[in-house]
Amino acid sequence: MAIPLSNDELWRAVLGQVELSISKANFITWFKGTSILSIDNGIVTIAVPNGFAKEWLENKYNLYILKALKSLSSNIEEIRCSIVQNNEIKKNNSVFVNGIDAVKPFFSSENNPKSFTRKKIDFSVNTVPSTSPSLFKSNLNPRYTFDKFIVAENNELARAACFAVSQNLGHLYNPLFIYGGVGLGKTHLLQSLGNEIVKNYPEKRVKYITSERFTGELVDSIKNQSIDQFKAAYEQIDLLIIDDVQFLSGREKTQNEFFHIFNALYQINKQIVISSDRPPKAIPTLEERLRSRFEGGMIADISRPSLETRLAILEAKALEKGVALDPASLHFISEHITNNVRELEGALSRIAAYSELQHIPISLTLVQKVLGDTLQHKKKLSPDEVLSVITDFYHVTREDLVKKGRKKEIAHPRQIAMYLMRTELETPLSSIGSLFGGRDHTTVLHAVEKITKEKETRQRMKEELTSLLDQLNTLCG
Ligand code: ADP
Ligand code: MG
Repeated sequence: MAIPLSNDELWRAVLGQVELSISKANFITWFKGTSILSIDNGIVTIAVPNGFAKEWLENKYNLYILKALKSLSSNIEEIRCSIVQNNEIKKNNSVFVNGIDAVKPFFSSENNPKSFTRKKIDFSVNTVPSTSPSLFKSNLNPRYTFDKFIVAENNELARAACFAVSQNLGHLYNPLFIYGGVGLGKTHLLQSLGNEIVKNYPEKRVKYITSERFTGELVDSIKNQSIDQFKAAYEQIDLLIIDDVQFLSGREKTQNEFFHIFNALYQINKQIVISSDRPPKAIPTLEERLRSRFEGGMIADISRPSLETRLAILEAKALEKGVALDPASLHFISEHITNNVRELEGALSRIAAYSELQHIPISLTLVQKVLGDTLQHKKKLSPDEVLSVITDFYHVTREDLVKKGRKKEIAHPRQIAMYLMRTELETPLSSIGSLFGGRDHTTVLHAVEKITKEKETRQRMKEELTSLLDQLNTLCG
């Protein structure tokens, strides 16, 4: 007779199965810190750390969980979720998800860099150095709010995470890392989170800043010898939002200072929210310790919108702007403007402006006329542009790619470049071979097949390709 599994063993086995069926970001977000609380009369009660996880597990993942449970233990009929606070879960010995222990303090002493011996800063209110008033500008644009953000399958995880954080600052997901291609709503979500806090907790200090501005301010403070004030001011922020963090990549000094500010804020449960055009793993030359801090929190992605989503967004935007769009125009725009929401908005504004100036109501004919130029001029990408995107993304040179050599750091970008030229540009295999220093067409074919396969089986590869495609699409614009 088989030995029955303990609750922990059973839950680990369930997680093992669920992990295969859903994306990694979703898996970590919703299953981190969960465990089986009890099994009673065929009803399994799952301990979850918060109401958001409860909602998602009960409504979206119910069937996955039940299926996995039933396959392991036939007399299970139903699941329920019960919110158990972190410290109680700890007692309950929660399961590690992907090696990440949800309840282990992010900065336990063994994680703490030895060099981190900052003097204690007084965090009471009103100690803002008077020399740096601009540091307390929130930089929030009230236009970006959650209620203006249209939720669809491509962004629901990121939206849920931002909203959850706005309801539980500093304690739920910290840091929160949102990534996705340009124009997909990252800034909108980050700013909505900031605005929500300002609205509900006016005493909280919120700062939104792009990583480029952050770098600029830091450099200025070094020049003005006011770096201590700079850091001290940052360390009094309750919610620090850093947008487009990929631009920190490669700037050692900035990363170092950011890391210290990050640690100081994190240790006193201040919230950090970060966005990037790609996952932390795919940001080249991001310092390892920063990368692992980012990965230790919660990561959610926004992908490109499907046709249904584009239709929904366009309809909502038209309504918001008071633009009357007939169904045929709505469909035409959504079918032709496919890259991102920013372009959809741009198209709508151009059409509305044209119709107003010419005093002609919007119709399919007018839409085709206004968009005609843009659509016809939609550039076809060249292999050269693929190479630029690849060399930027992986920090390699063109010579590296063409040279003979099988080092993985070079071979991988080379294979991806071949794959993109073949699948996106439909360049003949033999031409691709010539572009890469006269390689044989079978070498190219091998690369294309390898990447195609990995795309299906490895989440990391899928994410990498999504980031690259986003960048190529921007060039097509
Ligand atoms: P990103 O920061 O990812 O490049 P933005 O947040 O700047 O993108 O979004 C570009 C534009 O599209 C903004 O005007 C934003 O309000 C709008 N937008 C993006 N996604 C949505 C959405 N889901 N609902 C409503 N507006 C959106
Ligand atoms: Mg942005």
